[in-house]
Amino acid sequence: MTEEQLTHLRSIIIIRIGAIEASLAEDDPESKPVAPDIAIGRLSRLESMQSQQMILAQQRRQQEERERLKNALGRIDKGSYGTCGYCLSPISYERLEAMPDAVVCMSCAG
Ligand SMILES: [Zn+2]
Repeated sequence: MTEEQLTHLRSIIIIRIGAIEASLAEDDPESKPVAPDIAIGRLSRLESMQSQQMILAQQRRQQEERERLKNALGRIDKGSYGTCGYCLSPISYERLEAMPDAVVCMSCAG
Protein backbone atom coordinates (compact mmCIF):
# COMPACT_ATOMS: atom_id res chain seq x y z
CA MET A 1 0.00 0.00 0.00
CA THR A 2 1.29 3.45 -0.90
CA GLU A 3 1.60 6.34 1.53
CA GLU A 4 -1.12 8.11 -0.46
CA GLN A 5 -3.53 5.21 -0.12
CA LEU A 6 -2.87 5.00 3.59
CA THR A 7 -3.57 8.74 3.97
CA HIS A 8 -6.80 8.29 2.01
CA LEU A 9 -7.91 5.39 4.22
CA ARG A 10 -7.05 7.36 7.33
CA SER A 11 -9.29 10.22 6.19
CA ILE A 12 -12.12 7.76 5.39
CA ILE A 13 -11.83 6.44 8.96
CA ILE A 14 -11.76 9.90 10.53
CA ILE A 15 -14.80 11.03 8.52
CA ARG A 16 -16.66 7.83 9.47
CA ILE A 17 -15.89 8.31 13.18
CA GLY A 18 -17.15 11.89 12.92
CA ALA A 19 -20.40 10.73 11.28
CA ILE A 20 -20.94 8.09 13.97
CA GLU A 21 -20.30 10.58 16.76
CA ALA A 22 -22.72 13.08 15.21
CA SER A 23 -25.35 10.37 14.91
CA LEU A 24 -24.80 9.17 18.49
CA ALA A 25 -25.10 12.72 19.81
CA GLU A 26 -28.34 13.16 17.90
CA ASP A 27 -29.83 9.93 19.25
CA ASP A 28 -28.80 10.62 22.82
CA PRO A 29 -32.07 10.68 24.77
CA GLU A 30 -30.53 13.04 27.31
CA SER A 31 -29.86 15.59 24.62
CA LYS A 32 -33.50 15.65 23.58
CA PRO A 33 -36.32 17.47 25.29
CA VAL A 34 -39.06 15.24 26.69
CA ALA A 35 -41.50 14.42 23.91
CA PRO A 36 -44.82 16.15 24.27
CA ASP A 37 -47.71 13.94 25.45
CA ILE A 38 -49.38 14.13 22.10
CA ALA A 39 -46.46 12.34 20.45
CA ILE A 40 -46.29 9.62 23.12
CA GLY A 41 -50.04 9.08 23.04
CA ARG A 42 -49.89 7.75 19.52
CA LEU A 43 -47.55 4.94 20.49
CA SER A 44 -48.54 2.20 22.86
CA ARG A 45 -46.23 1.66 25.80
CA LEU A 46 -44.96 -1.54 24.18
CA GLU A 47 -44.27 0.15 20.86
CA SER A 48 -42.42 2.91 22.56
CA MET A 49 -40.32 0.40 24.51
CA GLN A 50 -39.57 -1.51 21.33
CA SER A 51 -38.45 1.59 19.49
CA GLN A 52 -36.28 2.49 22.48
CA GLN A 53 -34.70 -0.98 22.30
CA MET A 54 -34.03 -0.53 18.60
CA ILE A 55 -32.37 2.82 19.18
CA LEU A 56 -30.20 1.32 21.93
CA ALA A 57 -29.21 -1.63 19.73
CA GLN A 58 -28.34 0.72 16.89
CA GLN A 59 -26.28 2.88 19.25
CA ARG A 60 -24.41 -0.17 20.50
CA ARG A 61 -23.56 -1.16 16.93
CA GLN A 62 -22.34 2.35 16.19
CA GLN A 63 -20.24 2.45 19.37
CA GLU A 64 -18.68 -0.89 18.44
CA GLU A 65 -17.93 0.33 14.93
CA ARG A 66 -16.39 3.51 16.35
CA GLU A 67 -14.16 1.36 18.60
CA ARG A 68 -13.05 -0.73 15.62
CA LEU A 69 -12.33 2.40 13.59
CA LYS A 70 -10.32 3.92 16.44
CA ASN A 71 -8.35 0.69 16.69
CA ALA A 72 -7.73 0.92 12.94
CA LEU A 73 -6.31 4.44 13.40
CA GLY A 74 -4.07 3.07 16.12
CA ARG A 75 -2.81 0.38 13.76
CA ILE A 76 -2.09 3.02 11.10
CA ASP A 77 0.03 4.88 13.66
CA LYS A 78 1.86 1.69 14.64
CA GLY A 79 2.39 0.71 11.00
CA SER A 80 0.53 -2.58 11.33
CA TYR A 81 -2.58 -1.45 9.47
CA GLY A 82 -3.73 -3.50 6.48
CA THR A 83 -2.12 -6.75 7.60
CA CYS A 84 -4.37 -9.77 8.06
CA GLY A 85 -4.59 -10.82 11.71
CA TYR A 86 -4.70 -14.51 10.74
CA CYS A 87 -2.36 -15.13 7.84
CA LEU A 88 -0.32 -11.88 8.05
CA SER A 89 -0.70 -11.23 4.33
CA PRO A 90 -1.66 -7.72 3.20
CA ILE A 91 -5.38 -6.90 3.07
CA SER A 92 -6.28 -5.50 -0.35
CA TYR A 93 -6.73 -1.76 -0.69
CA GLU A 94 -10.19 -2.26 -2.23
CA ARG A 95 -11.32 -4.23 0.80
CA LEU A 96 -9.95 -1.63 3.20
CA GLU A 97 -11.59 1.16 1.26
CA ALA A 98 -14.98 -0.57 1.52
CA MET A 99 -14.38 -1.70 5.11
CA PRO A 100 -11.62 0.37 6.69
CA ASP A 101 -11.95 -1.46 10.02
CA ALA A 102 -11.24 -4.86 8.42
CA VAL A 103 -8.73 -6.91 10.44
CA VAL A 104 -8.58 -10.00 8.24
CA CYS A 105 -8.01 -10.48 4.52
CA MET A 106 -10.71 -11.55 2.09
CA SER A 107 -9.77 -15.24 2.04
CA CYS A 108 -9.55 -15.50 5.84
CA ALA A 109 -12.90 -13.70 6.20
CA GLY A 110 -14.51 -16.05 3.70
ZN1 LIG B 1 -5.64 -13.65 5.88
